[in-house]
Parts: sequence; structure tokens; C-alpha cells
Amino acid sequence: MNGITSKPVLLLVLDGIRPDVLRAAIKEGDAPALGFLAERGEAVWDAVSVFPSITPAATAAIATGAAPAESGILGHAWYDREEERVVVYGAMRDTVISTGPIKVFHNNVWRMNRDDLHAETLFETLDERGIDGACVNFPVRRGPHEHPVRLRSVKRVADRGVLLGTSVGGPKEYFMGDLFYSRDTGLHGRTGAGGIRRSVGINDAYAAGVGAMLLREKAAPLTLVYFFKGDSIAHHKGLAAQQEYVATLDGYVAAMFEVAGGPERALEEYAVLALSDHGHTPLLPNRHRYVRLRRILGEGTEVGSRARFEPGVKILAVPNGRSAFLYLADGVNCEKVIANALSRRGVDLAAWSQGGWGVVRRLGRELRFRPGWGSLDASGRAWELEGDLRAVEIEVEDGEVRYGEYPDALERLWGCLRSPRSGDVVLSATPGYTFGELSQTFHEQSDHGSLHASDSNVFVLASGVAAPRRITDVTPTLLAHFGAGGLPVIAEDRVS
Ligand SMILES: [Zn+2]
Repeated sequence: MNGITSKPVLLLVLDGIRPDVLRAAIKEGDAPALGFLAERGEAVWDAVSVFPSITPAATAAIATGAAPAESGILGHAWYDREEERVVVYGAMRDTVISTGPIKVFHNNVWRMNRDDLHAETLFETLDERGIDGACVNFPVRRGPHEHPVRLRSVKRVADRGVLLGTSVGGPKEYFMGDLFYSRDTGLHGRTGAGGIRRSVGINDAYAAGVGAMLLREKAAPLTLVYFFKGDSIAHHKGLAAQQEYVATLDGYVAAMFEVAGGPERALEEYAVLALSDHGHTPLLPNRHRYVRLRRILGEGTEVGSRARFEPGVKILAVPNGRSAFLYLADGVNCEKVIANALSRRGVDLAAWSQGGWGVVRRLGRELRFRPGWGSLDASGRAWELEGDLRAVEIEVEDGEVRYGEYPDALERLWGCLRSPRSGDVVLSATPGYTFGELSQTFHEQSDHGSLHASDSNVFVLASGVAAPRRITDVTPTLLAHFGAGGLPVIAEDRVS
């Protein structure tokens, strides 16, 4: 099979929609299009995200096939030890304001893709094989085609050359609201899709409109359309509100299927993959839901977008929702910091790397692990395990690793801890709790980021391709579909 004979692919990423929420919506008849896809294709309700289970890390994993440590995109924010500053890709409004909107915008739109992303994207690999991609609103979209900034107010800043570039590299067709569009779709500007609160056109109605246009035109073999509102609805209003919104999302999917000739025809013509990037965990109703890293870690701890190591600073803590990265100054006793953190309410587990091993500790139980010779996980990777398996509820039966409340824990911890960007210690929060944001604010209803199943399990609906079990399997699955081989395609090219 090659790019010409493979079915075109429609890849839909529905940010933060929990598998049980989608399932309930389907069951209640509120999501007929996604229900049709689930019924006709393959439905996996316990696929897994990466750790931290947070949007920049997860979307990078989807678009590259690389775990956070390899992609270089670890979370919403991390501390760059070389540049001696916290890098923020954007999150809650308060964080964006305290960091500086233009800086966050620069980090999110330019720096993340151009500088920080170390892995090749699906768009880049396919483009090398002559297979065009189209991308709507998805944050990780690096590719070889230049797209100029279209929005005048941004263009003015960009032209002054302070922080923003005048263009970005993306796939052949790239659309992000009024900011970037390969061509005019009639959905831009003040009269464009999304109504009054249209956030410069970067909204789900716009994504659906452009998605439908791309399908109508059969514009590209790979079309990636990203819907993100379901995540913010869960953060602010909770999971019941998210379920209501699934009906709206389903309408968008139905509209896209319609331009492809109706649901039956759409699945004949296209391979369709719909998935979420991470889950969500409801937070406790009182203020106790917020675990204040500055308070629990004690004097000498700094939290904030301007935090850096200076005299008197022993710990830089970078919260990422229900996970947190801790960076320690030279000479700080790591064991003491870990023991203290783990004694606090809301801190579920701590993980770190030590002498080539990953280490995770919870409830006084410690497990050391590394890939090598030993028990096999579901993907066939062998793990060498030392210590107490109950630290992350692992059972080994007949030489096989079985997971409990921490799905795919070994692979996911390993995929985070190997990067210096994740700090010296990574914390994961107990269900109900959050470490909040750099601005020391926190979400109202629900949050994510942890190693726990509630944040980690995602749904995958697939037709025309095998359903990936991990979000890092999406890119290899699609490369195989297009006959572009598994990763790494570049290495193969160099050999031949
Ligand atoms: Zn979120």
C-alpha cells in the first residue's frame, strides 16, 4: 500500500473528553455520529494518555508518536535550566496574564513547535513521502510549509520583530482561526464562525466548518481537526456539562460526515480515528482541593512564571494541574523533599530517576524499574522491577505486568522521567486534588495531569485503521496506514 491507494484519514482529537462521558452520551442517544463510528468500527474505552496527562504533552505525543521525554514537550510549563526561566505554553487566564500574553503566545505558537519539539511530526514525515496534511487548530503542527500571520494586530507585533515571527511552518493546509489560514474560507474575520466569543476564530465551530470544507474538497490525504472546548467546560463546569457539550461536538462530527456523503459513505471513503488526549478528575468542592506547593514544600520554594534560582531559592516548583515538576538547587536533600511532599494531603505519589532507574514511591512503598529483562507489559516491552509492586498497583502474573489504578504506569513514568525538563522530582496528585497553576490559582470543578486512571484513560474510536491503545501509537498507526513505515522513517532514509 502507498499514499495513493491508502484511504484518506480523518483524525479528530476531542480534548479532555472522558471515555465514560462519551459512552454515556452515546447511550442516551445524544451522540449518534460518534456512536455510529464506535459501532461500525473499533471502540477502545481504556486507551492511555502520556504522563503528565496534560494537553501540550499529550497533543505532542499524538502528533509525533513520542513520549514527553522524547518529544521535549512535558506539560503546560517547565523550567529551562539553561535559559534559567520558566517556559509557559499557556493555560488559565491568570497564568497567561501574569506571564505576559505576548510571551505565552510566542511560546505556544512559535517556540513550542519550532524550538522545543524534538521529535519529527506526522506532518513532516508524511510530507517527505509526498503525502499532504491538513491541520485545523491543533497546537502541534510543525511542517515544511510556511504560513504567514494573517491577523493584523498580531502581524503588527510580528513585524516589529520583538517576539513573534511573521510566519510558522506547518502542513500544506493549516488553519488556526484568524491567525493562520492557507486560503480564505469565508469563516474568518468578524463575520466568521463562532459568534461573539469567538476568540480570534480559534473555536470548535470554526474547526468543524473548516474540517467540512477540507472534506468537501478532498483537500488532503490526512486531515486533523481539533476540538478543545470540551476540556475547558469540564474544568469550569464539571463533567455533566461536558456530557451536554458532547452533543454539540457530535453535531460537528455529523456535519463533517454529511459532506463526505453521510456516515456510511464517510466510513467507506475515509479511515476515521477519533480520540481524546487525556481524561479529567472532579475536584473536591472546598478549597482543600488546592495543594499549595509553596506552603507544603516550605521556605525557599518558589512558584511562578518569573521564578528562577537565586540566592535563598532551594526548590522551583512548576505545577501542571494534577502533576508538578520540582527542580532542586545544588546541595538540597532530595530524599527530604520527597518524604515531606509525600506526607502532605493531596500528594499521591512521587517519581524520579536515579542511576538509570525510574523510581516511584506511594504509601511508603517504593518501586524501581527500567526497561530490560523481566516482566512484559501489554505492548511486549520487558521491565526489570525491584521493590514493592504495590507502589503503583502492579501485579505480575505468568511473567506479565497487569495494571490497576495507574494504567501503563511504567511506560508512562519512563516517558517522563528521562527528560531533565521534568525536573528532579515529579509529583502526581490524589484524585480530588490539584497543584493548580503557576499563577497560584486553580480550576473550579475538574482537572487532569496525574498518573491516575481518571486523568489517564482516553477513548479511541477507529474505522479503517486498527485502534491504537496508547496515544503515542497514533502516529505509527497512521504512518503504517500510508505505507510510510513505522518510526523512525528518517533513519530508514539514511540507511538506503
Ligand atoms: Zn485541560
